[in-house]
Amino acid sequence: MFKINENFLKMPKSYLFADIARRVNEFQAAHPERSIIRLGIGDVTKPLAPEVIKSLHNAVDEMGVAETFQGYGPDGGYDFLRNLIAEHDYHSRGVDIAADEIFVSDGAKSDCGNIGDIFGTDNVVAVCDPVYPVYVDTNAMAGRAGTYSNDKWDNIVYMPCTLENGFSPELPKEHADLIYLCYPNNPTGASITYEGLKKWVDFAIEQGSVILYDSAYEAFITEDIPHSIFEIEGAKSCAIEFRSFSKTAGFTGTRCGYTVVPKELKCGEVSLNSLWLRRQSTKFNGTPYIVQRAAAAVYTPEGQRQIKGTIAYYLNNAKLIREGLISAGFENVFGGINAPYIWLKTPNKLTSWEFFDKLLNEVGVVGTPGSGFGPSGEHYFRLTAFGSTENTKEAIARIIRNA
Ligand SMILES: *Cc1c(COP(=O)(O)O)cnc(C)c1O
Repeated sequence: MFKINENFLKMPKSYLFADIARRVNEFQAAHPERSIIRLGIGDVTKPLAPEVIKSLHNAVDEMGVAETFQGYGPDGGYDFLRNLIAEHDYHSRGVDIAADEIFVSDGAKSDCGNIGDIFGTDNVVAVCDPVYPVYVDTNAMAGRAGTYSNDKWDNIVYMPCTLENGFSPELPKEHADLIYLCYPNNPTGASITYEGLKKWVDFAIEQGSVILYDSAYEAFITEDIPHSIFEIEGAKSCAIEFRSFSKTAGFTGTRCGYTVVPKELKCGEVSLNSLWLRRQSTKFNGTPYIVQRAAAAVYTPEGQRQIKGTIAYYLNNAKLIREGLISAGFENVFGGINAPYIWLKTPNKLTSWEFFDKLLNEVGVVGTPGSGFGPSGEHYFRLTAFGSTENTKEAIARIIRNA
């Protein structure tokens, strides 16, 4: 009899979004007259920028003509896109990243999950708590997490991010080989300073660890903080960075991202850049040509103007939520300045789910219980800025009236 990967059997069922949907459906069935506003969505809602659409159309036409038709693309992505990424996302910030250190992909989720292929199964993994579940679950599938009990995996180092530490975790006391960091953060909306990130880079170099740095929300940064971990001295010898066009330019359904693996990053004599190239060229046959052309349009002056307009729209929603909650008397409201997420401490020591039910029942607003992102998310709650401004305003007005 064949055998399955038994690591899958150790994994808890993922109930979070199913539970939310069930409670919302039950509420709506019981109160058909009540309108419900969803401020829990982690997906963008505005359409692709006109420049992106134009580029997509052109690329589709190219595919229909023998002279310009494209088959399998080069490993790691087309030079036209890798060069644009190197120039606009790195060289413009004084960071020397070469085009062949950039691997274009179908998104950051795949890359964050697949990167584990190039690391041994006996590495110790450290994650922030609360956390984007992909980092934990993919390591569990690979057999790196140990056993799950009491909401935790026994081989994973959890680094609590709470009100007490300003949602920036302490350096782990235990040794960790692979350290996942995400800034600006989902779900807490927290960001990190140059000094704060330098501390992690120094720690990784000293410990011989790799930082897996997810900067999917880099485009939402409004303050003077690092956009890339490679802005920090020494990071090229200890970090891999994941980026995505999903939140930057509305590509959640179009699919394009990239991963930067510097050639300086080595385990002894072995370059991780060459391992990742080997992994990608074996298991991945590239992001569609038309999608890479669409992503390239993001870097044109007009494309930049358009995507920045959309990001400003979401950030304005974030400001409305943040300021609205404060004026409604919420004392602990975080995020929403360099990220599309607002993270709040529930009032009166309510659990995340108690607060979810209260908000749904009293004002018809849906958010995401913080406990769904890890044990330290309990007593917290996430609201997102990806809705329409009209709905966001209405939701906040209801919360203020109900306060
Ligand atoms: C949305 C998101 C991503 C992007 O994922 P894609 O697969 O590129 O759509 C990556 N990391 C985090 C933390 C996210 O929230």
